[in-house]
Amino acid sequence: MRILIIEDEPKIALSLVQGFEAEHFSADLAEDGEKGLQLATDIHYDGIVLDWNLPRLDGLSLLRKLRQAGSSTRVLILSGRREVADRVAGLQAGADDYLVKPFSFQELLARMQTLLRRAQETSETLTVADLVLDPQRHTVERAGKPIKLSQREYALLEYLMRNAGRTVTRTMVVEHVWNLWFDGLTSVVDVYISYLRAKIDQGFSQPLIHTTRGVGFMLSADPKNEKTEKNGKNEK
Ligand code: CA
Repeated sequence: MRILIIEDEPKIALSLVQGFEAEHFSADLAEDGEKGLQLATDIHYDGIVLDWNLPRLDGLSLLRKLRQAGSSTRVLILSGRREVADRVAGLQAGADDYLVKPFSFQELLARMQTLLRRAQETSETLTVADLVLDPQRHTVERAGKPIKLSQREYALLEYLMRNAGRTVTRTMVVEHVWNLWFDGLTSVVDVYISYLRAKIDQGFSQPLIHTTRGVGFMLSADPKNEKTEKNGKNEK
């Protein structure tokens, strides 16, 4: 696994490089945003640890450019900013996770490993009614018509489809799609659900995305017939 660390504070940068190398990752370091963007564009990394405040190019601008260029590399933002609005800004820029400084390396490592594991989950095509998602090709079609989704919309739809016929709560979505568990962020879920509805359901007679009042959301062709844990795949 190859990790890129974009961090300008020498002490933190060194401890991150040493920490990841001790865990048998190969770790590269960029000390400013421009160099970070260049490396992230030229080399395929499995994950990126990205400081927000950086010389030359700040972390969020870097991340936006990276996502605009089509990169789906898992990115964890490190920042001293702990406000909800900052976390939301980080996630909206395309981050997969957000960790506030000061942090423990063990926590950062655990979170990065979770992100990388999720990225590796290979799988077969997902189908609900006439909606088809192909995780290999990263494509979505409804009734044979290709639908263009942002990286985050795609991740949300994939999660809903993996849990088709079952209600998922906002907290579950935040935890699985953003790898965060934090009440203040659940309003972001509603925003992304509305984006998805506009792309997936608008213009089709059968809506697939449903709101379970007071609980969350469900993707289903037959919403009256919700799966329960008893007949669901979660049963042990
Ligand atoms: Ca910094």
